[in-house]
Amino acid sequence: MLNFTRPTSAAGSSDLVWPFQGRHLVSELMGSPGAPIPLGQLMSDFSVVKDITPVGFLDDKPVFACLVETTNLDVMKYTSGNLFGLISRIAAEQFDVIGRAYQLLCWEKDHRHCGRCGGETSLADKGQSRACEPCGLSVYPRLSPCVIVLVTRDEELLLAAGVGSNRRFYSCLAGFVEPGETCEQAVQREVMEEVGMEVGEIEYHGSQPWPFPGQLMLGFTAKWRKGEINIDPEEIDDAVWCAPDNLPPVPPPFSIAGQLINGFLKSLS
Ligand SMILES: [Zn+2]
Repeated sequence: MLNFTRPTSAAGSSDLVWPFQGRHLVSELMGSPGAPIPLGQLMSDFSVVKDITPVGFLDDKPVFACLVETTNLDVMKYTSGNLFGLISRIAAEQFDVIGRAYQLLCWEKDHRHCGRCGGETSLADKGQSRACEPCGLSVYPRLSPCVIVLVTRDEELLLAAGVGSNRRFYSCLAGFVEPGETCEQAVQREVMEEVGMEVGEIEYHGSQPWPFPGQLMLGFTAKWRKGEINIDPEEIDDAVWCAPDNLPPVPPPFSIAGQLINGFLKSLS
């Protein structure tokens, strides 16, 4: 269990660190996937170790994230892969913690300078924010709320393949919440924009951090009210009403889309 309080002291060589090579997490080949690695070991095995970022306390020990670089990754000792490949191989809680590490690393890297005056920022507020002393601006890690909605009509599910998905699987509709909008309004707008339908009886079902790089997925169900499928071809490749016993390939159960679909199917039985 991770304590979100961020360590304020510098990382020592025995402290554990999640190392990222660009967008890829580096793990020890013989270790547990996604397990953090002592900083001293990274220092001796990688040519560059930088942007060491405090993440929290794991079992009362400080943990960090960092960027590593090497031209020659020792494939007998380490493996690297993107976070999405890890999500099905580790527990959800562990994935969320690594996702936090990646988001904090990206946030610190992208906010070293103030967006208002260009001055240098530094960690403030016990590490919760980066502050610019000259102009007083404080910047907190940015999350982008995104609604994801399963639309149903009696026993049928509306499932869609996004543009670029090659119809590998069909999922719920999703989109970012706009400034000035409630989540429920975002659900209604996204469904109207993407498939041209009105929905009602919108119900919240749960959320999931989605660190690609900073979304927070908010899961809803909604009932069809009016309209026929009329897709926005810039966003949606195909959308279909599906009977519960005749579904196309759908997202896996660790994703919130998979959970919304499974939850609806269970409610029918
Ligand atoms: Zn400033």
